[in-house]
Amino acid sequence: MEKTILNKTITSKYLISLFLLLFFSNSLFAGNNFVKSTISKGELNLYFTSDIERVTYFTLPDSDGVTKYVYDIYGGVLPSGKGISKHSFRNIESFRMGQNSPTKLRVIIRSKQKFSPNHLYVGNRLTIPLIHDGKTSSKTKKSVKSSRKAYTVVIDAGHGGKDNGASCGKVKIEKKVVFSVSSKLKKRLEDDGFKVYMTREDDTFVPLPSRTEFANKKKADIFISIHANAAPKKSLDSTFEGIEIYYLSPAKTDRAKDAAAKENAVMFEGKDFYTTNEYLSLISREKIIESHKLGLDISKMMLSNVRNSFGKVSDGGVKPANFWVLVGAQMPAVLVETGYITHPEEGDNLMNSYYKSLLAKGIAEGVERYLKNK
Ligand SMILES: [Zn+2]
Repeated sequence: MEKTILNKTITSKYLISLFLLLFFSNSLFAGNNFVKSTISKGELNLYFTSDIERVTYFTLPDSDGVTKYVYDIYGGVLPSGKGISKHSFRNIESFRMGQNSPTKLRVIIRSKQKFSPNHLYVGNRLTIPLIHDGKTSSKTKKSVKSSRKAYTVVIDAGHGGKDNGASCGKVKIEKKVVFSVSSKLKKRLEDDGFKVYMTREDDTFVPLPSRTEFANKKKADIFISIHANAAPKKSLDSTFEGIEIYYLSPAKTDRAKDAAAKENAVMFEGKDFYTTNEYLSLISREKIIESHKLGLDISKMMLSNVRNSFGKVSDGGVKPANFWVLVGAQMPAVLVETGYITHPEEGDNLMNSYYKSLLAKGIAEGVERYLKNK
């Protein structure tokens, strides 16, 4: 008797789980799978395989002044192994994403900061603002966009392919850091109505002269080469830090000469290179002045953006240097050293997605400031 009951229980349990499994796997096929999440410009973006039907939102108070922001994405499905707990963002305590029901995906963000309630879902993307910003609505932004002449910017993500650039350990690699900053900058400038091209779209090697040639061909108004620096030796890792901007002109300071030597290293692998003097004699005085002005605006806006959120970030100044990658550019051109990858704190910052977003935002605002005052 006892045995029969037990068997019955097992059978019904088995049937229920089978039913749930079928129901759930069915929803995997029919559902809208979560693809990835990104943070840029203070917004969390969640991407899905198809259009989002409906999102509801509510808040719950948590301990220590933390609020839970809860978003339910109807039709949303979290494929196994996908999560979004790895984002770091100021004042965000944690992100969690889970399957609340077979047809509802729940995102819980715990934060001490007041969020703007204006989350937005368009197509397959849900955007959640992580900063409360009452100033600009997307409507007013759009009207500014359409009234401005489309400037063209060429972004040059330094190094690539066989050329790693500077590195610190196995993870902190310049070509990766600068590609990430460059991609964020591209998106940012495009959102602001610029026409943007990148000298490399992936991890490929592009010779230095081809980079400015490309900018000339695209008739760019501005050329920005993005790099990250490294201390000259291990014992100086904690000494060297800060954002430095270079424009093409005969190098004066030792640090500018060091940086130029490092960034130019790959150029000299090739057979034909010209002497610095030959090239430098071709740069017009006016281009030097304009590049210097552009550098000053970029430096100012980068520093104000990162310092707002990350406190102390060292100002390495705006300096003349003879970088080969700037040689031959027919437009104002600067090389941005986003920071020292070898510095304990700055190196960590350069691995932080939000920090890189702020660097990109600063460069974009610098470009806009320069063009406005031109
Ligand atoms: Zn570099």
